[in-house]
Amino acid sequence: MGMNVGKCNLCLQERPLLKKSHIIPDFIYRESNIYHKDHTIHKIDLTQSFRGNVTKRGKQRSGEYEGSILCQNCDGKIIKEYEDYAKVILYGKESSNVNKLLYSFSYGEIAVENIDYRKLKLFFLSILWRAAISSRPFFKEIILDEKKLEELREMIFTGNPKNNLDFPMLFFLDAGDDPRLKQYIGQPVAGIDNNSFLFTFPGILVYYLFDTGIIPDKLLKYQILNSGDIRFMRLSSKQIWELFRFLFG
Ligand SMILES: [Zn+2]
Repeated sequence: MGMNVGKCNLCLQERPLLKKSHIIPDFIYRESNIYHKDHTIHKIDLTQSFRGNVTKRGKQRSGEYEGSILCQNCDGKIIKEYEDYAKVILYGKESSNVNKLLYSFSYGEIAVENIDYRKLKLFFLSILWRAAISSRPFFKEIILDEKKLEELREMIFTGNPKNNLDFPMLFFLDAGDDPRLKQYIGQPVAGIDNNSFLFTFPGILVYYLFDTGIIPDKLLKYQILNSGDIRFMRLSSKQIWELFRFLFG
């Protein structure tokens, strides 16, 4: 039962590598109650869905994970720090060593102030990076060039989130009632130019983009900012499908 020794993708050192590293963190599946009674989860192929084809439901045993990509320290310490923090923000898990969060709710958005820009941004970037290095078919559309991969790796490894314009992301909350979006993990899809990627988590959509010029200005505020704010745009189910069509149709 020994672990493989090989080069860890994050620290680039020769280390014993874990047999199981999650690409999409396990807590996103657990906290959002999408595990079925038999511990399978459903996933949908969004590209098929929004192009009008019948929703295809794939069943899988657990979340998406892969072996021999990360060492214990990188998975269990570096990435775990970001994941632990994201749990607090996304699922309201109590924690005494996190600053008090200031929420404001309005019809069109939810804003949270006093967030840790470094940890939360690197959490979301670590998912993009893990998906890009993964060989799992579920992430086949997530292809980053070597330069971007290396820049992301270094940011995640050294804990440097850089500035607002470095690897920006937009956040959307599903405020509608389409169960396809609430309960399923959508297969991440790439924009036509391969310069943007949409990840669909239960109730939350994250749109990674390398060029904010392709986005209408009014959407740009739905980001993580180094002033310690994150804004989520609330969308109805209909608006989400329209967004898919706008971005990927
Ligand atoms: Zn490592």
